[in-house]
Amino acid sequence: MFSIGDYYLCSHLRMEGKYFVKKHEEPIEKHEHIIFEFVDGIDLRYADVRKFGRMCLVEKDKIEEYESVAKQGIEPIDDKLSKEYLYDKLKTKKIPIKSLLLDQTIIAGLGNIYADEVLFKAGINPLKFGINISKDECQRIKDSSKEIITKAIKYGGTTIRSYTSSLGVTGNYQDFLQVHTKEGEKCPKCGTIIQKEKVGGRSTYYCPKCQV
Ligand SMILES: [Zn+2]
Repeated sequence: MFSIGDYYLCSHLRMEGKYFVKKHEEPIEKHEHIIFEFVDGIDLRYADVRKFGRMCLVEKDKIEEYESVAKQGIEPIDDKLSKEYLYDKLKTKKIPIKSLLLDQTIIAGLGNIYADEVLFKAGINPLKFGINISKDECQRIKDSSKEIITKAIKYGGTTIRSYTSSLGVTGNYQDFLQVHTKEGEKCPKCGTIIQKEKVGGRSTYYCPKCQV
């Protein structure tokens, strides 16, 4: 966090962000995306190979509000997401795992579509309570989340017709969906008919045989 007059510049490095102090005349490296130039000829350069980092300018009297919003869980692609972390977060919760995966203070950035896909891949029933999720199942949730989100990023996300962005930006991950929106179709693993149910008010799709 940098103090700049009436503002704080909040910088989240996420996975790969780094700061370098260099002389102004030094050549700009490929991944140096933001450069702060100081009057004494020194640069503070922000480099980020994967561009997951974030910067926000926040008014000083709103910083507490900002920090409470920023108190979010770990992203699926972050190596800090471990089975121990998940087990600790889930072990006391008498709430369906589907709802817990949508809780942004536990895992950040897993939406309704991907939560269904993660639970299918992990072989866990979406209605199972957090308190009943084993460490082994936490490992499977962690692995599936990382794999699915990595692939979704690669394919530009998921576009289901009703969600099409007004900018016309469309992703291609929908071609890889296994259960979400597949009600009445056969499970790709076992052939059982995919069920749809509301869990915590959200449409949830799963295979009753593969997901126990
Ligand atoms: Zn199945």
